[in-house]
Amino acid sequence: MYFRIGKVSKLIFPGYGFCKKCNTTWNLVRIKDVAYSEDGGCFHLCEKCWKESSQEERIEYYLSTERYRRSKTEIETLIKNIVSH
Ligand SMILES: [Zn+2]
Repeated sequence: MYFRIGKVSKLIFPGYGFCKKCNTTWNLVRIKDVAYSEDGGCFHLCEKCWKESSQEERIEYYLSTERYRRSKTEIETLIKNIVSH
């Protein structure tokens, strides 16, 4: 199942988080999880939006939120994992 229908999904499923690029809720698209430590990961894009984004865009989407939540080491790991994907 993969329905990238955009922000209308937020009206239908208001309790769900969503992809930062296409605004589709996570129950309709597959998450692209990226690790920032050995036991922690985060997701801000769906798999299709990840594939369609440049490396700079990927870093921007993931760091726009995570830079306020993570340590310097975790941010460095996150960037390394985004670039090596
Ligand atoms: Zn998306």
